[in-house]
Amino acid sequence: MAATLEVADLTVFYGKRRAVEGVSLAVGPGEVVTLLGANGSGKSTTLRAISGLVRPARGRILLDGRDVTQAPADAIVAAGVSHVPEGREVFPEFTVLENLLVGGHRVARGALPARLEGAFELFPILRARRRQLAGTLSGGEQQMLAIARALMTRPRLLLLDEPSLGLAPMLAREIFRTLARINATGVAVLLVEQNARRALRLAARGYVLETGRVAAAGTSRELAADARVRSAYLGLGQTAAPPCAGSAGSLG
Ligand code: ATP
Repeated sequence: MAATLEVADLTVFYGKRRAVEGVSLAVGPGEVVTLLGANGSGKSTTLRAISGLVRPARGRILLDGRDVTQAPADAIVAAGVSHVPEGREVFPEFTVLENLLVGGHRVARGALPARLEGAFELFPILRARRRQLAGTLSGGEQQMLAIARALMTRPRLLLLDEPSLGLAPMLAREIFRTLARINATGVAVLLVEQNARRALRLAARGYVLETGRVAAAGTSRELAADARVRSAYLGLGQTAAPPCAGSAGSLG
């Protein structure tokens, strides 16, 4: 079976500045894969290239084996990819409901009520706040709205850029619990996240970017045991037992 997403030798420039160089990665059907790396290492740019928001100078992007490297952003959405950008980017002057309807603007009218119901089941607080302006929501609620909005198109692949950024630990945990529930419905996830512990616990595999290149790749267990990952992203030495996906109850 073809990978849900396959990125091969991706290189992206902003003007003369090379942000991503020769990145190859894959996400299997229903898989959670994390993209780790320091600020400026090219994580967001990789997601933007996959969504068709920036044009690669080189490389190929395949969705279910179909080449979408040159496809416009709306065609990528139509192909089943939704992107939750860093900083959430909800429309602050629109209500919660209006934001969700923007996310669902391509959805057939008859299918909308079920999609909205799905969003409210996943995030009950959004139902309570549906008439409230999105700009008046807390950061955590805005993140929930951004995720719910992205799910309105029923994507097969969700690209998430730092969903826990700026959130209190309790809210971040709630977001991650919900991501696990979303994944359990079969949605594959490519997750950019500063909190490497949480990311490695949710993800089956990961890639580490350094100055635009893949510096390490492996299962979450392998990455969590990798000396460089442990010191740079987990703040750990080399002796403790590594955390592993799905069973690291003591971490985070
Ligand atoms: P962060 O965690 O800070 O979001 P990141 O790993 O997502 O970092 P990118 O945002 O992809 O990294 O940035 C990669 C490189 O590209 C950085 O050197 C950054 O300064 C540069 N860059 C990002 N966006 C632009 C832009 N719109 N114009 C010019 N350079 C950019």
